[in-house]
Amino acid sequence: MKCPYCDSDDTRVIDTAHETSGPGIRRRRECNQCSKRFSTVERAILNTPLVVKSDGRREPFDHAKLLSGIRMACAKRPISSDALEGLVNSIEARIQQTGKAEVPSKMIGDLVIAGLKPLDQVAYIRFATVYLGLDDVESIRREIDKILER
Ligand SMILES: [Zn+2]
Repeated sequence: MKCPYCDSDDTRVIDTAHETSGPGIRRRRECNQCSKRFSTVERAILNTPLVVKSDGRREPFDHAKLLSGIRMACAKRPISSDALEGLVNSIEARIQQTGKAEVPSKMIGDLVIAGLKPLDQVAYIRFATVYLGLDDVESIRREIDKILER
């Protein structure tokens, strides 16, 4: 750990505190060069798993790409950018929480579907038409009927 005052690598831990409510393990350190003291916090960083496409290719989770895909389904709908950004953030958090190295792209599609449905039903139908492959009027109508029945 580098000293934030003099940039020296020569620092030592003088105290370690486990804070159950705080962000993680806090350590007091002292620099052996300039004798100044500072704290560090050690916490876990969640890795974002790779996305496995239906054809077996793997690609990194692309926040911007997912957002633009959802935004397209939501074009001209009364949904705030904050709500869309929030949806993508929650999807990213959910796949991180799996703790897995890879997740199927279907999981992400399912999370988008589940998130869009309560947000905007027209956007949901647009996204579902592409994502669920509702390629005939009959299956699109069934999906709309399901919404209207509620
Ligand atoms: Zn120092």
